[in-house]
Amino acid sequence: MQVRFNCPTEGCVALIEMEPLPVAGEPIICPRCRKPHAVHVTEALRTENRVDACPICRCRELFIRKDFPQKAGLLIVVVAAIISFATFRTHFAVSWGVLGAAVLIDLVIYLLIGTVTVCYACRAEFRGATPDPKHEGFDLARSEKY
Ligand SMILES: [Zn+2]
Ligand SMILES: [Zn+2]
Repeated sequence: MQVRFNCPTEGCVALIEMEPLPVAGEPIICPRCRKPHAVHVTEALRTENRVDACPICRCRELFIRKDFPQKAGLLIVVVAAIISFATFRTHFAVSWGVLGAAVLIDLVIYLLIGTVTVCYACRAEFRGATPDPKHEGFDLARSEKY
């Protein structure tokens, strides 16, 4: 499992990425401020590779989202729209074909990509974890608690 989180030290803006997550319990040392950060490894994390509580801030509320490269998805749509617009009057079939292809590509990416488990409190991201059935999609009301 890969973990990515913002260094919790005040004033430090480092984005720390670690793979694999040290499940033996050794602290993660920030490459920028050099402060060690304790990793709270739960039983589920150690044995099932499942994030039932955030190992960085111990928050028990996490959500799951698709690991969709949003910029890539947007780029495909924009490029398709431009081609479609340019060919609309001259090549009607091409115009619709390009739009249809863009939708299909987006769909395939969506189906192929994995999920990310994200902590509501500190926004730490966990890739390659076993999804926890208790976790749902992002909920704005919950998010505003933090
Ligand atoms: Zn730091
Ligand atoms: Zn957290």
